[in-house]
Amino acid sequence: MVTIIGGGPIGCYTAALLSRRNDIIVYEENKEVGTPIQCTGILTDTINEIIKLKKEFIANKIWATRIYAPNGKFAKIHFKKPNIIVYRNKFDQYFRDMAIDNGVKIEYNCRFTKRREILNTETRRKKNIKYDKLVGADGPQSKVSTSYGLGKRKHLRGVQALIKKKNDGVVDFFPHIGTYAWAVPESDTILRVGVAAETNTLEIFKNFKKRYKGNILGWQGGIIPLHNPKTITSTKNVFLVGDAAAQIKNTTGGGLVPGLTAAKELQRAIDENKDYEHLWRQKIGKSLWTHNVVRKTMNRFNQNDWNKLINIFQRKSMKKILSEESRDKPIQMLTKTIMKNPSTLLFLRKLMH
Ligand SMILES: Cc1cc2nc3c(=O)[nH]c(=O)nc-3n(C[C@H](O)[C@H](O)[C@H](O)COP(=O)(O)OP(=O)(O)OC[C@H]3O[C@@H](n4cnc5c(N)ncnc54)[C@H](O)[C@@H]3O)c2cc1C
Repeated sequence: MVTIIGGGPIGCYTAALLSRRNDIIVYEENKEVGTPIQCTGILTDTINEIIKLKKEFIANKIWATRIYAPNGKFAKIHFKKPNIIVYRNKFDQYFRDMAIDNGVKIEYNCRFTKRREILNTETRRKKNIKYDKLVGADGPQSKVSTSYGLGKRKHLRGVQALIKKKNDGVVDFFPHIGTYAWAVPESDTILRVGVAAETNTLEIFKNFKKRYKGNILGWQGGIIPLHNPKTITSTKNVFLVGDAAAQIKNTTGGGLVPGLTAAKELQRAIDENKDYEHLWRQKIGKSLWTHNVVRKTMNRFNQNDWNKLINIFQRKSMKKILSEESRDKPIQMLTKTIMKNPSTLLFLRKLMH
C-alpha cells in the first residue's frame, strides 16, 4: 500500500503511475482538486514529452516574450515552439481523473498533521493511517517533510491578479522587479499579472500593477519553494515529490514540468526498488542546479547589470539561442550563450563577490 499526501497535479500523477502495480490512497486536505488556483499556468513545450495535451485545459498558446530591463528597453524573443498556458483547475482535474480511472481512491478534507495521523477537517476527527510507503506531494510547506525530518523549504511569495485588458498575446517578463514579475495573456482580453518576491510582495505588486490598468477579475497567490540542490527528498520508505521536494526552476518558479518528471522517476524507484534520489537527480538535477546558480547570480545584479544583459539579449545571435532552447534545458542555453557571447561570462563573476 502506497499512501500519498496531497492531491495536486504531482500527487495525482504519481498516484496514477503507481496504481499499475500498487494499491494507492491519496489524502487531500481541500474538498476538491484544482482549487484554490495558485499558479500562472505557463508551461514550456517540454510538457509534450510528458503528457498528451488536452484542448479542455489549454487557455492560450504563446509565441513570444518581451524581457524588460529597468531602463524600459526590452528584448523580444520569438519561440520556435509555443509555450502553453493552462487553466490550472482543469489541468489538475485531468490528473485527478487519470488517477481515479486507474482505481486510485482520493479522500478529501483529510489533512496529514503528523506521522501516521490524518485529521478530517470537517468532522475534526483524527485517524491513524498505515502504509508501506508514504509519498509527500503536499506542496511547498510539506508537513510530510517536516514530520520525517526532511526539513523546511525556503520560499518566495507570489501574488497574481487576473486583469481584464486587451493584449497582443506576448508574455511580458520583468526579471528585475521583486525576484521576478510577469504579465501572461490568458486570452486576448485577460492577463495574469503577478510578482514573486522574498519580502514585501504585496507592496511590489501594487506598484507593478499600475502598468496594467484594467478591471481585476480575481486574485491568486501562493508560495513558491526555492530549489536547494542539497535538499534530501527521501528516507527508507518516505518520498517527497513536486513542490514538497522543491523540484522547481529558481529563475522562473516553474514547478510543473520538473515535478511531473520527478513523479515518473519516483514510480520507477518504488516499482523497481531503485534509488529515488539518484533517479530524479540524474534526470533534472543538473538543470535545477543551473537554474539555481543563475538565480543566485541574478540576485546580485544591480540595475546597470540588467540593462547590459538585456542589451546583449537584443543581439541576433542571442535571440536565436533564446528562441530555440527550452527553459527546461538551461545547460544547453547557457553553454551556447557563453560560446556566442563570451562577455556574458562576466556576469557569473557576480557569484564570487
Ligand atoms: C503565483 C504562482 C505562480 C506559479 N506559476 C507557475 C507557472 O506558470 N508554471 C509552473 O510550472 N509552475 C508555476 N508555479 C508553481 C506550481 O504552481 C507548482 O510547482 C505546482 O503547483 C506543484 O504541484 P504540487 O502538486 O507539487 O503541489 P501543489 O499544487 O501545491 O499541491 C499540493 C496539494 O497538497 C495538498 N496539501 C497540502 N498540505 C496537505 C496536508 N498536510 N494534508 C493533505 N493535503 C495537503 C494541497 O491542498 C494541494 O492540493 C507557480 C506558483 C505560484 C505560487
